[in-house]
Amino acid sequence: MQTKGVDVPSLEMKKWFDTNYHYMVTRFAATTTFKLATGAANKPVAEFKEALALGIKTRPVILGPGLLKAAGATHVQIDEPVLVLDLTAQARAAFESAYAFLAPTLSGLDVTLATYFGGIAHHADLVAQLPGINTIHIDLVRSANQLDAVISAVKPTHKSVSLGLINGRNIWRADIHHALTLARHAIDALDGNHARVTVAPSCSLLHSPVSLAGETNGSLDDEIKTWLAFAVEKLAEVRLVQRALTEGSNAVADELVENHKAIASRRSSARIHNPSVKARVEALQPKDFTRPAEFPARWALQQAKLNLPAFPTTTVGSFPQTKEVRAARAAWKKEDLGLDMLVHGEFERNDMVEFFGELLDGYAFTKNGWVQSYGSRCVKPPVIFGDVARPKPMTVDMITLAQKMTPKPMKGMLTGPITMLQWSFVRDDQPRRTTAFQLALAIRDEVVDLEAAGIKAIQIDEPAIREGLPLRRVDYEEYLQWSVDAFKLSASGVRDETQIHSHMCYSSFEEIMDAIIRMDVDVLSIESAKSDLKLLSAFDTHAYPNHLGPGLYDIHSPRVPSVEEMVLRAKAILACLPHARQAWINPDCGLKTRGWTEVRESLRNLVTVACQLRESV
Ligand code: GLN
Ligand code: ZN
Repeated sequence: MQTKGVDVPSLEMKKWFDTNYHYMVTRFAATTTFKLATGAANKPVAEFKEALALGIKTRPVILGPGLLKAAGATHVQIDEPVLVLDLTAQARAAFESAYAFLAPTLSGLDVTLATYFGGIAHHADLVAQLPGINTIHIDLVRSANQLDAVISAVKPTHKSVSLGLINGRNIWRADIHHALTLARHAIDALDGNHARVTVAPSCSLLHSPVSLAGETNGSLDDEIKTWLAFAVEKLAEVRLVQRALTEGSNAVADELVENHKAIASRRSSARIHNPSVKARVEALQPKDFTRPAEFPARWALQQAKLNLPAFPTTTVGSFPQTKEVRAARAAWKKEDLGLDMLVHGEFERNDMVEFFGELLDGYAFTKNGWVQSYGSRCVKPPVIFGDVARPKPMTVDMITLAQKMTPKPMKGMLTGPITMLQWSFVRDDQPRRTTAFQLALAIRDEVVDLEAAGIKAIQIDEPAIREGLPLRRVDYEEYLQWSVDAFKLSASGVRDETQIHSHMCYSSFEEIMDAIIRMDVDVLSIESAKSDLKLLSAFDTHAYPNHLGPGLYDIHSPRVPSVEEMVLRAKAILACLPHARQAWINPDCGLKTRGWTEVRESLRNLVTVACQLRESV
């Protein structure tokens, strides 16, 4: 909230590990002092008490250490997913000293240290020795092969293990037989001591929709529904595993048979497999992944057609989505802000992934499968259940209609294969790479059709490419190979004179610059204002060769950036780029969360900035 008379830019925003859940990056300095909030301001304690008053004694989950004992908690969970990453010797030492310091306060509480989204075998010894901890939670969905290492490290201690057997990050029904095999293996390794084993979902259920009970009136068809489990159903799966372990399989024989049937029906369903899609992926050749000419030659051909000025202005895609959209659209047609390359505004799209998913084969949709993305904002990821194919053109009518209304170039606007993959619930019965290539071929067909319809520039958004990066460095290369290949497959079906744009935001680039360069897009727009130009240094040090549009203003607040502010930022940007003439002028991201009044004013200022820059060079 903005206090009257105070003009503050918002905090930087980043994604939580490899999820699409965003958080504000808090800042502290060596001089910052920390103190425990009291009363309602202490959220974990206040919420624990709220549940307790309703008769539910919860196990509060906190990030790093906190105090709940006094409020009556007996069990506390401390999340330390950072343990799945590569840690420096310094960070490992900090774990030891922090927990040594905390141990006296934790005594008397049953404390679970939770890790997820990866394995902790590489830190098993460190974790097993931490004082004050009773149970170690591990994610066996992401990393089943950590089980032996963790158990052998933990076994000589008094600690227990919590087995994350039910996938909290996806929506498929669990294979209970497989979960039981892992659980029995763990119990055996602990000499049959059931008391040292807890059964749990792999991670927080925040990443999964609430309940299949919300999927009524044929929103998901009955067959597909039998293959799925949302949060409520996942808890029943946890309970089923626990009962099978404690009461024996016979006690839950019916449930186990039903689970087995559902798993088998999904595996063999003809709806999932499309031979022509599989054959197309099989037949791919190296030439399908590259453009014919190198960027400088392509640029010359594109300029011959587009004739853009220096510092071309454009926007990232969406325009405000208000109920007045129709009226605004009519007004927009008449309005000339002076932008050089236009977008149609994405008014027809509910969401940049769901919109395309609805037009592709192999996708299913939930009615209420919402998951939190940031703050009060939620997304409803579609479900990829089968081979993906594009039955017919998806955006060609809309973009050609928009192009007819203006002599300025109209950008085609598509979502890239990796973002489609990351922001959908994906199949777990084939490698992600295969699904990505199927998506890439569908998008490639659309790109080719847009070109044939006379569209000269096409933007293929990939805001999620960094988000999909594996958490351990050893796994980076493989992912970056296939994800960049998938993008290039989607983008390389066109002639050199067709300009390919892409857009990425709320990412960090240092570790993936080689991959970004290998994507070889003609123009890349990135968020940079919100993160205070921090992202740009990577483009500078790697001498980024193609054109780049670093965002000139943050689109997350209704604040209208002044010309002066954006000129200063633009100059700082130009100083960061290998060549000033590479620069495009655009906002950080799409504008659909904004209102028309501020968008109009902001874009008018943005165009003024570009004009001033042109005069100054
Ligand atoms: N083209 C999309 C839009 O402008 C991009 C959104 C995004 O990067 N998240 O809305
Ligand atoms: Zn964006």
